[in-house]
Amino acid sequence: MANSLLISGANRGIGLELTRQYATAGWRVFACCRAPERADALQRLAADNPNIRLHPLDVTNREQIESLARALTDQPIDILFNNAGIYGPYDVRFGHTDTSAWRECFEVNCIAPMKLTEALVDNVAASEKKIVAAMTSKMGSMADNGSGGSYLYRSSKAALNAAMKSAAIDLKPRGITVALLHPGWVLTDMGGPNAEITTEQSAQQLRRILDQLTPTQSGTFFDIDGSVIPW
Ligand code: NAP
Repeated sequence: MANSLLISGANRGIGLELTRQYATAGWRVFACCRAPERADALQRLAADNPNIRLHPLDVTNREQIESLARALTDQPIDILFNNAGIYGPYDVRFGHTDTSAWRECFEVNCIAPMKLTEALVDNVAASEKKIVAAMTSKMGSMADNGSGGSYLYRSSKAALNAAMKSAAIDLKPRGITVALLHPGWVLTDMGGPNAEITTEQSAQQLRRILDQLTPTQSGTFFDIDGSVIPW
């Protein structure tokens, strides 16, 4: 049977390109996004490639997570890719941190990937590759923080790293490998026009890292070139 990928935030940015590349490589892709009916680019991809199935998923919606898990019962998932993420408001400075936006960043960037992983862990365990990937950011690294600011995004990605590191340890007995991936500074809505690499380049590198991933590397925080980012 062909390998399979389930990815959140598949309608644009890096998630859309990962969907395209994996499907082109012959993988079955469960492409999840908040509004499939408005996901024009993803719908066009799916029309050209029968390997792609669209699923509605707001990652913060627990009922949608549960109904997705029910719909995919007994369906192996080789790579569960927690890609969906938000930066939050861009104008957050010290003294002006908005708590509701901060909570939303934690909900989307940290809690949701864990809840999706908990819901689909049996599917991952039943697959050949058994990989949980989480799109994190170098901005979640304490060691790499030389410029301050970005309180909401940095802290929510650092929390994601902490949670996924624990999952890497807890899921080891089930043969599951967890990878924390920094995608580079990528030309997307989030990355902006000054970013350094295209979604094509980022997705190619991410696929290479996942292709070469070994169980002993579980819980590693990878840079886009495959090197290790210090926490
Ligand atoms: P993007 O173009 O802004 O796309 C973000 C994706 O996340 C969209 O598909 C969006 O869906 C989805 N999303 C946001 N909230 C969601 C929710 N509640 N439920 C489901 N989907 C949701 O960003 P990107 O650059 O491709 O980023 C992808 C990942 O890479 C993120 O985790 C980001 O933090 C990380 N990252 C990006 C960069 C970069 O330079 N671009 C650098 C480091 C890390 P909607 O269209 O419905 O909003």
